Amino acid sequence: MIKQTCILAATLLLCSVAIAQTSGTERLKVDATDAPRNILHATLTVPVSPGTLTLVYPKWLPGNHRPTGPIQNFTGLHFFVGGKELEWQRDLEDMYAFHIVVPAGASELEASYDTITYYGKSSLASSKVLDLVWNQVVLYPKDTKTDDVRVSASVRLPEGWKFGTALTPVQQNGDSAEFQTVSLTTLVDSPLIAGQFFREVQITPPGEPITHVIDMVGESEEAIEITDKDIASLKQLVAQTGKLFGARHYTKYHFLLTLGDQTAHHGLEHHESNDSGAAEDMFSSNGAHDLEADLLPHEFFHSWNGKYRRPAGLATPNYQVPMHGDLLWVYEGLTDYYGNILAARTGLRSPEQFRENLAYTAAMLDHRAGRTWRPLQDTATSVQSLYAAQPEWTNWRRSADYYPEGYLIWLEVDSLMRQKSNGQKSLNDFCHLFYGGKSGPPMAVPYKFDDIVAALNQVVPYDWGKLLRERLDSKAPQAPKGGITNDGWKLIYNDQKNTTMEAREKSSNNIDLSFSLGFIATKDGELRDVIPGSPAYAAGLGPGMKLIAVNGRKWSKDIIRAALKSGIHSQQPLSLLAENGEYYKTYNVNYHEGERYPHLVREDGQPNTLDEVIKPE
Ligand SMILES: [Zn+2]
Repeated sequence: MIKQTCILAATLLLCSVAIAQTSGTERLKVDATDAPRNILHATLTVPVSPGTLTLVYPKWLPGNHRPTGPIQNFTGLHFFVGGKELEWQRDLEDMYAFHIVVPAGASELEASYDTITYYGKSSLASSKVLDLVWNQVVLYPKDTKTDDVRVSASVRLPEGWKFGTALTPVQQNGDSAEFQTVSLTTLVDSPLIAGQFFREVQITPPGEPITHVIDMVGESEEAIEITDKDIASLKQLVAQTGKLFGARHYTKYHFLLTLGDQTAHHGLEHHESNDSGAAEDMFSSNGAHDLEADLLPHEFFHSWNGKYRRPAGLATPNYQVPMHGDLLWVYEGLTDYYGNILAARTGLRSPEQFRENLAYTAAMLDHRAGRTWRPLQDTATSVQSLYAAQPEWTNWRRSADYYPEGYLIWLEVDSLMRQKSNGQKSLNDFCHLFYGGKSGPPMAVPYKFDDIVAALNQVVPYDWGKLLRERLDSKAPQAPKGGITNDGWKLIYNDQKNTTMEAREKSSNNIDLSFSLGFIATKDGELRDVIPGSPAYAAGLGPGMKLIAVNGRKWSKDIIRAALKSGIHSQQPLSLLAENGEYYKTYNVNYHEGERYPHLVREDGQPNTLDEVIKPE
């Protein structure tokens, strides 16, 4: 700290021994009228006192668990005191820190800047919608707790646009709105969505005292036409979480949903809202609806698991302190499990769709070659580097597997709880105990691994610590499928298409032959991944190559499927011509078992507990 002060003073030829202190409220004005071309303009007034001051841009983002604050898109920066511009210096090591010397007599500093929100198809805005995430448009004094920084925020939107947010407006004037002063923690936890096409629907079930709404913006009027069936399912979702947890740790809840294909498809959890983006046809297409069915249950579940109860390593005092991802198999894994279960309990997904989805998840992890070198634990611990990887070689590298494999592990824990208690107890009781408690406004209660084990033991005594560590540290080639078999089902493969995979293929246009030839390719034949140990891998094919021809005929998804079928009765290997950089080569794949897709079928003589798991409480 002292070192930085000296360097700055020397560089700016100013000498100051005092460290600028700030207290009071920051005033943030966001001009979002340029949102359609993906740039936000902002001014921020910061209370200061004379001396050196370091302001920082949020780096480690809650829910993101990574140092991904988009500092590269933070532009047009100027600082002023009393209308006079001040020089600034970026820290030599911390790209998120800006050093300024506040002149004598100053009590306020004004910063003006722009944030670019363009990320191609994952942009935060389009001609019709905006997802305003406040961490991208704020600065705050270094080394302060974000709970202690107060911010009074306002926004000006494009003409005629309407908005939804969990923030409380204190004033609305045409296209501008001003919000109640909150802590920086609450502001960043309360995104705002806006758009030309906007619809808010009440989803508070009868007898529920806390207001729940879904706010939707979309690329078109049709996009936000939620069906009566889905409204009923979302009401049921709210009711089911009431039964599951017995308490709510928020005072109101907003599902913020952006429906469009020009902006990011994602989900980000907050205490009093979730900020989700999905396909424009999510409410009208069966496939898109099936794929996204667990999105809103997942993000809603996070209000309890992730926001209220939070792994100690993710409960940081501000956005510059590094986060620890080691417990993400609880934070995301348990949420993935319940997101899928609640999708089925509320009718967002049918029981058949639920099972097809589970079969695909188990099969995908059962074919993850990278599990022989990288235990699941490491996928959580290394979260900050995993997302930066290319899709090629995902199978060997592994991905954020703490989501889907966390799902399988919690399914197994749930099944064992049910077995050991003769059906009297389940993971639902753990949720009630660990995430319930007393209702009230948002707060974060940190936990560690031992707290999870102790709470599980309180519901059903067992050596949960040993079981969990075995699952997390395992390098076994097979996925943990004990939950599926304990619950009366088994994973099989046949030539009938898996409906989840069909929906994924329609949405991505890729063809997934992971369970037969052992590769995933784009419709144009670019190999996204080849599974080590698979027939395609054994033949020499690798991710990044491009398939040109199948048995001498031009590549297409239909041609490869036809070749797989005819290959069953052929003695000849499948001949794949591939382009690798500037060279072509033919690869002979010795495979004759046709198309193979995963499904769940009943295990004879075992009770069907899986049906119990997805029954509404
Ligand atoms: Zn999540």
